[in-house]
Amino acid sequence: LQKNDVRVTKPRYIRVNTLKVDAESVIRELEKSNFAVSRDDTIPDVLVLPSGIDLHDHPLVLNGSIFLQGKASSMVAIALSPKPGWKVLDACAAPGNKTVHLAALMRGKGKIIACEFNAERVRILEKTIRRSGAPNVDIVNGDFLDINTSDPVFKEVHAILLDPSCSGSGISAERLDYLLPSYKKGDDADACNSERVKKLAAFQRKALLHALSFPAVERVVYSTCSVHQTENEDVIKSVLPLATSLNFELATPFPLWPHRGRPVFEGAEHLLRTDPAEDTEGFFIALFVKKCNSANNKL
Ligand code: SAM
Repeated sequence: LQKNDVRVTKPRYIRVNTLKVDAESVIRELEKSNFAVSRDDTIPDVLVLPSGIDLHDHPLVLNGSIFLQGKASSMVAIALSPKPGWKVLDACAAPGNKTVHLAALMRGKGKIIACEFNAERVRILEKTIRRSGAPNVDIVNGDFLDINTSDPVFKEVHAILLDPSCSGSGISAERLDYLLPSYKKGDDADACNSERVKKLAAFQRKALLHALSFPAVERVVYSTCSVHQTENEDVIKSVLPLATSLNFELATPFPLWPHRGRPVFEGAEHLLRTDPAEDTEGFFIALFVKKCNSANNKL
């Protein structure tokens, strides 16, 4: 990377693990190491540092006080807004950054079931959970699509976080090429319609339909780190008929956030996008809420 490349001039975000420590203590510790650190103005417990700082081996990372989690990624669990005591399912969980964020938001109370089908990635998930100190996470090494929604373990799940495999086009250095002078318009349209992206979108749709079918679920968050409409607005649009028949509606996570869904259907203004140019990563978040619980819709 060149020194003046947009990819190296962006700030670095970290998330404070409030299961272990509060933001003020982390700020004091980082200031002792002469880091210029401040609170993010929108996302609670997210701190901003200058670009180019490598914290991978910092004691606060190693002891689980902070997670090297981006700002947009840290918005996902907050959008779900789980209450302490709830039963929450993290459908596609590894490496577990959002699992342990859910645990922090629930103050370690209630139950999180973290489902992950890749055995190697389950090891990473276990490490993340151990490092975070979360006391309330059970791991299921299996396919989310195979979960029987009437199984006693799952039939009382209140909330589901679905962060499925995606193209990753919102975080790959390749995607950020569009910020560089060499970028040609049209490159995005090609990538968006590739066979790989279409296949991913088919899985994402299936997984979202499955999430909405859990009998007691009141809130479902769907998120990707993709900038492609095929994996984002198109997936949401395609499940709306079933979602509506099950009494779900789209709610508005972070209502003051300026970047919303592409206006490709009525209601897309409820969706949230982050802009990889301004917000460091291109994320997408949709929040479904059961209508009878409309008091839960606001953050
Ligand atoms: N939420 C995670 C975090 O914040 O750390 C990142 C999740 S990553 C985007 C998607 C994960 O889902 C991968 O680890 C992948 O192996 C897993 N996965 C994909 N399909 C799955 C399925 N059908 N059932 C369970 N896990 C699945």
